[in-house]
This record gives sequence, C-alpha cells and structure tokens, in this order.
Amino acid sequence: METVGLGFCFEDLPIGRQFKTIGRTVTEPDIVNFINTIGMTEVLFTNLDFLKNEAGFKGRLAPGSLVYCLAEGLLANAGSSAAVAELLASLPSVATPVSRNGSEPKTVAIPAPVAAVAPVAVAAPPASAPAAAPSSAVASTAVADDEPLLLEAYIDSVRCTTCNECTNLNNKMFAYNADKQAYVKDVKAGTFQQLVIAAERCPVSIIHPGTPLNAKEKDLAKWVKRAEKFN
Ligand code: SF4
Repeated sequence: METVGLGFCFEDLPIGRQFKTIGRTVTEPDIVNFINTIGMTEVLFTNLDFLKNEAGFKGRLAPGSLVYCLAEGLLANAGSSAAVAELLASLPSVATPVSRNGSEPKTVAIPAPVAAVAPVAVAAPPASAPAAAPSSAVASTAVADDEPLLLEAYIDSVRCTTCNECTNLNNKMFAYNADKQAYVKDVKAGTFQQLVIAAERCPVSIIHPGTPLNAKEKDLAKWVKRAEKFN
C-alpha cells in the first residue's frame, strides 16, 4: 500500500511540473513574530506611520523572506514533510541542523561548491519504453568552468496529448511509450533542426531540444536561437 506524506522523489519532479498548495493568510502576528525572531526590525516592518506618511505604502508590509518561509511550510503541510530530512541525511557534509538551544553560532558545512549546476534535465520517463542507455540527463553535480553545458533533449511525457506532431515529423527520434505519450527515443536519429521544429509544433510546449550534438549542422546558430525558449 502506498505511504503518503513522504514528499517527492527526484523522478516525480520533471522540469515544468507545477502544483498548488492550499492558501494562507499572512497575519499581523506572522509579521511581528517573524521580524522579531530574525531581528528584521527596520521601519518598513515596524512603523506604520512611516509607511503611510513617508514611504507611501498602504497597509502592512511583510518581508519577502517571510513569504518564502511560508511557502516552505505550505509545502510541508501538503505532504512533503520527510523530503528535507531525507535530503539532509543524504548529504554527509552537512554537520547538523541548528538546534533550538544552540547558543554558539553553528557552522553548517555546505557540500563542496557546485561550480555550475546544469539545468536539471530530467529524462523523459517512458513508462514502458525499452530501457535506455544510462541517461546523461542526471546532470553531474559539478561542471568545470570551461566545460560547455550540455543539455539532453527530453519531453515532459506526462503532459503529452498524443497529437502525433513530433512522431509524424520523425518517428525514429520520437516515439510513444506504453501510455501513448511521446518521449525522445533516439536523439541521434534526426537533426537538431527537427528537435526545434518539433518543439515549436508541440501544442503543449513540452519538447525541450537541449543542446545540439552536431556542431557542424547547417544553420546551427539559427536553430540554437529558436531552441532557447524551450530549454
Ligand atoms: S508534439 Fe507534443 S503533445 Fe504532440 S505527441 Fe509530441 S510531445 Fe506529445
């Protein structure tokens, strides 16, 4: 039986996945508690008279950092409570979370700096497609500064509407999985131009052409430019 509340695995989060949590009202106590907790007691958050008469704001302002903290809380309430704990557990170099009673400033060792994290190209998850070669889509965590970033072409298959546009264009490059949703079957079976054209024709914009494999392809600069908005 499925256990809920453990959050998402990496495979559950293809690029472009969106979801909505329930809403939450930002209350006066939220703001007061937050700014006092972190010491953000500047006039923008403590002086309504200043806000109204000198800064020209109506009502109360909340720090942006409060907003993203609330977003994380909403996500935890939505059933991802174990996700952060699992992430921390998987990073041996994170020393310890700062505890409530810690009076000494604690150093949380951050893992070795990631020089450049390639945009995480999650491979199209062909439900029952033939096993693919190990995907380079699982980006290496560190990329040397002088190495160009290579993005693998992929499709957010779960959002495919099975319109046949891409498969009609090149059915060796694009194919359907067992759920009748398209994925990039063989990126070498066509040209970068075809990847870009497929991306442009896809009615739900889920084809990501990545970076070209063949640096000598004709008019490559033009196709790379057209691919930009899909990557
Ligand atoms: S063009 Fe887009 S929606 Fe249509 S089959 Fe291909 S991936 Fe699916």
